[in-house]
Amino acid sequence: MKRVYLDNAATTQVDPRVLKAMLPYLKDKFGNPSSIHSWGQEIKKAVEESRKKVASILGCRAGEIIFTSCASESNNLALKGMVEAVTNGNFKKAHIIVSSIEHHAGLDSAKHLEKLGVKVTWLSVDQYGLIDIKEIEKAIQENTVLVSVMYVNNEMGTIEPIAKLGKMIKKLNKFRQSQIYFHTDAVQAIQYLNCNVQGLGVDLLSLSGHKFHAPKGVGLLFKKDGTPITRLQDGGGQEFGLRAGTENVASIVGLIKALELVEEHKKEKVKRVVYLRDKLIKGILKIGGVQLTGHPQKRIPHIASFVVKGAEGEAMILLLDETGIAASSGSACTSKILEPSYVLKAMNIPPELSHGSLRLSLSSKTTEKDIDYVLEVLPKIIKKLRKIAPKL
Ligand code: PLP
Repeated sequence: MKRVYLDNAATTQVDPRVLKAMLPYLKDKFGNPSSIHSWGQEIKKAVEESRKKVASILGCRAGEIIFTSCASESNNLALKGMVEAVTNGNFKKAHIIVSSIEHHAGLDSAKHLEKLGVKVTWLSVDQYGLIDIKEIEKAIQENTVLVSVMYVNNEMGTIEPIAKLGKMIKKLNKFRQSQIYFHTDAVQAIQYLNCNVQGLGVDLLSLSGHKFHAPKGVGLLFKKDGTPITRLQDGGGQEFGLRAGTENVASIVGLIKALELVEEHKKEKVKRVVYLRDKLIKGILKIGGVQLTGHPQKRIPHIASFVVKGAEGEAMILLLDETGIAASSGSACTSKILEPSYVLKAMNIPPELSHGSLRLSLSSKTTEKDIDYVLEVLPKIIKKLRKIAPKL
């Protein structure tokens, strides 16, 4: 059976060149970077070289990169760690602004802070999932310490105006006594957009290796010099004392290799993925009773997302899987109750439609044959499900 993996927003396959770069660090180069003998120091050098390479790609200093285990950890550190540091634990003093469509790692970190007494302004989005910079400007208060808005939403692919927002915050900071820090979750953006932190004007930026062909279990947080952070994990002094735990060296080396590969022929890859995504979107919209979710133009190249009338999301995923296609849906079936996606809800998509959500996410390895196969199979699956769907 043909197999087509179109769930690259969930995770990606490790690139063989990444694996090759990692292997020495899983074999002979096994020292602990904290050890002062030559086994350790050789590895420490590899970690520090990796840090320099990331920094040159993101446009920052090596000392501004903290390696973590994943983007969830980076987001937790950015939100909880930053707010704790800036308020000295006096949470009731602080106000933060967070978009209502953040990934759960950001969303739940903000909810956690809210429970501790932080005042949170939850930003609304329009029907395309776009935030409104004016709404943020209006929400800012004297005690606002953080704005957190993701660069690209993972469920429907809308690109948020991060650089514009960065500019606005920078301008406001010039006239304020206390600074507003700006965090973005760039997990879904890194492969296709410019993530230069100077250009974006961010103080904190989260990334995850497994979303761009590095292994799972490694991520990073860019933290601009001077941005206060309290560490969340106690122990050793690794990562400038901000993240205890022996470094995941092989994966750090893999993450850097993957990041270098992202930058190789980036323009051509973007063009190709956009072409395939648009072919997929055009073909799927022909089915009828299907609506594109997210912004039609301001959308990341690899994400095509829809709501399908009269077909339930998980049923589509399961039937697609039977034909060898991996996809995903925003609705999750928990305890037999269908929970509509909070992202689609924020975009005012009614629950009866959001139950039929479908996300197909491509990679630079996706082929035109893969797309043709989906366009051959999916209409039949939808037809089949519509036939058996209860009439409302
Ligand atoms: N942020 C976004 C936008 C994501 O898409 C994901 C993963 O789906 C995460 C954060 C969490 O990443 P990780 O699995 O590395 O914790």
